[in-house]
Amino acid sequence: MRDIKYIVVHATGGSPQTTIKELLLVFKGLGWKNPGYHYVVAADGTITQLLGEEKVSNGVKGYNRMLVNVAYIGGFANGKYVDTRTAAQKASLLKLLGVLRKHYPNAIIQGHRDFSPDLNRNGIIEPNEFIKVCPCFDAKVEYKNV
Ligand SMILES: [Zn+2]
Repeated sequence: MRDIKYIVVHATGGSPQTTIKELLLVFKGLGWKNPGYHYVVAADGTITQLLGEEKVSNGVKGYNRMLVNVAYIGGFANGKYVDTRTAAQKASLLKLLGVLRKHYPNAIIQGHRDFSPDLNRNGIIEPNEFIKVCPCFDAKVEYKNV
């Protein structure tokens, strides 16, 4: 078993209508052997496992050995990065994170952007410090009780 330190929430960063097949093609195009995420949640709330949790996915460069990566499909609309989660997606994400929380009781649940460096060292990763906006909402706050 891997030593999982974080459960990381992502947005796939494309249209909410992106299919699993299209996502897999993107990963392949990047030259990745494994997908970017262990689980993805579609706009209709369907949860798809892309990779076994014992394997390493490609969610956050430099950290992947200690991560389980989950993503909602979307995060991009009308030319910008925004939270596009539907009610069904929010419900499924919560359910999925609840299950993962049981598997990894000590893991920290946070967003991809929370891995950005804290440039002014005030202990808070502020928007101007985000290396990425992913997942376009504050996962740390939203899932603090999961
Ligand atoms: Zn991400």
